[in-house]
Amino acid sequence: QTVVHWFRVDLRTSDNAALHLASLKAKRERMPLIGLYIISAKDWKRHDASNWKVNFILKNLSTLKVDLETKFSIPLIIKVAENIKDVYEILKNVVEKLDTKYLYFNQEYEVHENQRDEMVQAILDSVEVKRIHDQCIVMPGSVLTQEGNIPKVFTPFKRSWIKFVYQSPVKTFPSPEKSEVELQPLAEDYIRSNSTIPFPNHDNFLNDFVLSTEKADFFKTYYPIGEDSGLARLTEFVEKKIEKYKVTRDYPALEGTSNLSPYITNGIISSRTAFLAAFKKNNERLESGNENITTWISEIIWREFYKHILVGYPRVSKNKPFKLETDNIQWNYDEKLFKAWCDGKTGYPFVDAGMRELNTTGRMHNRLRMVVSNFLTKDLLIDWRLGERYFMQNLIDGDLSSNNGGWQWSASTGTDSQPYFRLFNPILQSKKFDKDGVYIKKYVKELRNCSGSSLHTLTAQLQSFGYPKPIVDHSTARELCLTEFKRIYNK
Ligand code: FAD
Repeated sequence: QTVVHWFRVDLRTSDNAALHLASLKAKRERMPLIGLYIISAKDWKRHDASNWKVNFILKNLSTLKVDLETKFSIPLIIKVAENIKDVYEILKNVVEKLDTKYLYFNQEYEVHENQRDEMVQAILDSVEVKRIHDQCIVMPGSVLTQEGNIPKVFTPFKRSWIKFVYQSPVKTFPSPEKSEVELQPLAEDYIRSNSTIPFPNHDNFLNDFVLSTEKADFFKTYYPIGEDSGLARLTEFVEKKIEKYKVTRDYPALEGTSNLSPYITNGIISSRTAFLAAFKKNNERLESGNENITTWISEIIWREFYKHILVGYPRVSKNKPFKLETDNIQWNYDEKLFKAWCDGKTGYPFVDAGMRELNTTGRMHNRLRMVVSNFLTKDLLIDWRLGERYFMQNLIDGDLSSNNGGWQWSASTGTDSQPYFRLFNPILQSKKFDKDGVYIKKYVKELRNCSGSSLHTLTAQLQSFGYPKPIVDHSTARELCLTEFKRIYNK
């Protein structure tokens, strides 16, 4: 008889709620604990996972496997599913072959994942299935308005979130206990024949996710693999950078942010651990102390906010705007304009640098995420859902709730309490946040010999470097956008 922990978006051994509880159960029942991971390439495709993200997950899975086996004597089974039905069959098979009595996993809040998990609970009737809260610091549903709803606006959400955390202090979960119970020979055979991790190559079912040689090189240097690497990045950030965060975070050339999102999003480190490191550094204060630290914690609370929104208002994960009235906006679907934006060829250097950063590295600085999404939805009036999808298909940290929240914030269709006239001027943004053009020149290579100040004026000089002409005039585009928003609000 066995206890199984099903790993999904929690590829770590430390501070993993369900894994910890599964380990306690295994100890109490004197059963071996076994890990399981199910790879479903079709699901990744369906959810627009980028090849960066898939490679990151699989590589982290391989270090997790070694960690589990060597440090905790927990074997990891790897199964491959064609589609969702296969997942159910795989689980039934695992339960049968390993004589599983308890199945543990951490809860996922997205609609499809939730439906899948409910089905799993229904079909595995001979097993005690435990779905554990783990992905947020505060469980969705714990922070509510007086009317009992999940707050729709960030500031009141944050206020209640902080109050909740002071009342119910955040704790991490210890790593699992080392498993001492021997496996039966049949279970051992089953585990041995299901333990290979496939990596994308041109000849296997993961061929859609192969990284080019150039990208693979960047990947190796920029995204060190494993929980220990994620934790080391957190420690370094908290020791060396967090106390300057508020001043540096908006300047993409300065690398002033933590770059932890690939690790947090993919569950390589937990958001609790990240939060507690900063909280302790600020002597357990959330509203006073060092403003740089409280600003960083505020960003972690934005992540929480968007996850709670997803639970409270599931329409946001079904391609619907949060503000339903904005469904009447007549978005533009011009393919040429959209392609120019995707390729980083809009003729606006700051916007193009952001898109080229994304296309070559799988990441994009937050300031640029705001600028390029604003440009697509306001200057080009292109449907935010196209941009949201393009981001998911290219980001290493693609996460439905944060990505959707960010896009709807920019498109003024979301939870933002500002009215629709949040409209960035891409030139002023670049003057303010990349004055000397260091960031622009890093990614828009044809402009590397252009003087810093010329980068912020759209003169013909830029074209003399082989750089494209602006695809729209910002002032005209601004008026068109305002007219469209006024139309739906009858103003
Ligand atoms: P830091 O500044 O060091 O922040 C620490 C952590 O806080 C981040 O790792 C992240 O987990 C969280 N965080 C920071 N800012 C936000 C935010 N605005 N919303 C939610 N969480 C935040 N973040 C994702 O993780 N995945 C996405 O798919 C994603 N898509 C976005 C799309 C748009 C249009 C916008 C405007 C923002 C998006 N963000 C997304 C939020 C933010 O840009 C990234 O989390 C951040 O750039 C990651 O870099 P960092 O780890 O250095 O962040």
